[in-house]
Amino acid sequence: AAAQPLLAVENIEVVYNDVILVLRGLSLKVPKGQIVALLGSNGAGKSTTLKAISGLLKSEDGEVTRGDIFFEGQNIKGIEPDRIVRCGIFQVMEGRRIIADMTVLENLRLGAFTRRDNGVKEDIERVYHYFPRLKERTGLAGYLSGGEQQMLAIGRAIMARPKLILMDEPSMGLSPLLVKEVFAIIKQLNRDLGVTILLVEQNARVALSVADTGYIMEQGKIVLDGTAEQLQSNEDVKEFYLGQG
Ligand code: ATP
Repeated sequence: AAAQPLLAVENIEVVYNDVILVLRGLSLKVPKGQIVALLGSNGAGKSTTLKAISGLLKSEDGEVTRGDIFFEGQNIKGIEPDRIVRCGIFQVMEGRRIIADMTVLENLRLGAFTRRDNGVKEDIERVYHYFPRLKERTGLAGYLSGGEQQMLAIGRAIMARPKLILMDEPSMGLSPLLVKEVFAIIKQLNRDLGVTILLVEQNARVALSVADTGYIMEQGKIVLDGTAEQLQSNEDVKEFYLGQG
């Protein structure tokens, strides 16, 4: 039998404000050590799926009304977000959500808030190793460029040393060159640290270039899944998600 996946989302339904049904029986698996891409067009429910996992739905009046979410075999559905972070799940939010009036270093330290070990200093150096530019920025994080803010948001996830990183649209607002750079680092992090990554993206091309497996969702459900290679060569995926060329 296959090993138990690190994360298993089973048949979840999500409702906002008691009325708007956004996820309609969504299931997916994230095996340990992999990068899994969750793809789909605008409004399909990708961000909602991540928030259901990280517990952040509640703050937006959303609720998982059916189904279960298992992390390392434990049902984490309905658990408070801070406890989910302590379980080892860290979400890099869409739009970065760094703290503008704190320095880069303060933002990084904040990422390590749940840690009790003494590897924090070493991991700050590790973040600077991946993102040398961040080391040069000694002012407030609010003055960073969009690309640098995305790097800082990922750096904060490194500082948390999670087992699973949930990434919401890391390509958003970045130039094509920076997208390449950021995704190369995502792949490197996965290899170097062995961290598992669930990656939500509208840019299917770049996501599948680093992912092991992927899921395509439409209107709150998974409509297709497979290895990155299978999805890259699927005719529907090519036509609807990869564009021409
Ligand atoms: P995008 O890439 O635009 O973020 P997405 O696939 O991540 O798209 P979601 O953000 O999960 O999609 O949104 C899915 C649906 O849920 C959309 O129709 C959206 O309008 C709705 N929705 C999202 N957040 C809320 C909320 N807080 N309250 C009510 N409806 C919401």
